[in-house]
Amino acid sequence: IVRYNQVSKYFGDLQVLNKIDFDIMPGEKVALIGPSGSGKTTFARLLMTLESLSSGTIQVDGQYLWHEEKDGKLVKASSKHLREVRQNIGMVFQHFHLFPHMTVLENVMEAQVTVKKTPEKEAEKISKDMLDKVGLLEKADVYPAQLSGGQKQRVAIARALVMKPKVMIFDEPTSALDPELVGEVLEIIKEIADEGEMAMLLITHEMDFALEVADRIAFFDGGKIVEQGSPEQMINNPETPRLNEFLSRFN
Ligand code: ATP
Repeated sequence: IVRYNQVSKYFGDLQVLNKIDFDIMPGEKVALIGPSGSGKTTFARLLMTLESLSSGTIQVDGQYLWHEEKDGKLVKASSKHLREVRQNIGMVFQHFHLFPHMTVLENVMEAQVTVKKTPEKEAEKISKDMLDKVGLLEKADVYPAQLSGGQKQRVAIARALVMKPKVMIFDEPTSALDPELVGEVLEIIKEIADEGEMAMLLITHEMDFALEVADRIAFFDGGKIVEQGSPEQMINNPETPRLNEFLSRFN
């Protein structure tokens, strides 16, 4: 469902990603781990279309993300093309990014109405069902400022899910939360993962959670995927000294 081909990213002279090839299969849950500054967030931001590529290509569901084909050639994507392909991609950020001036329900409805052109009544029904699923239906009419961090993140998750993306990206969804609120958010993410159909890319420092949810873990270091495999293989038999050293910090 997602294909990175020889993807590099520079910020000025700094190379942050170095010729990465990477696929995510439909329905596959992939966790990205690695030290701070290794390029995980940048890797995800390229897929979220929040950062442009320096070289290489990314495809989602067979469509190029940063390029489009014109007369048999690959050219830079128009913003219209980018908008279309982006509809397949759901995003949840560390800092929630809810619209502060909209109620919880309005936050969840917004993109359905403006981007997907879903009729309001229908969007409202879908949104309420989703809020119910994340346990926040009774908060539908309050504003984000009145919610705890964990509740805000659950709204952000509901907002992404109602768009029915083919791939969901979670960028450190619990790292801005007080420790006692982490569990409720991980629980929701796990439920979504168990439903199965959506592919997920999950950047996390929660190693136990990665183990439990991911089909595959990829270890980033210095702008490259240094090692990847099943959670059991990565945790129990790390092949590279770098991964071994990284994991030893969690013990
Ligand atoms: P963390 O776990 O701390 O979020 P990370 O693995 O996600 O780290 P990135 O955030 O992708 O790493 O950052 C990789 C490198 O790119 C870092 O050296 C960072 O300083 C640099 N970087 C990221 N964004 C920019 C930017 N907009 N301009 C310049 N440098 C950047």
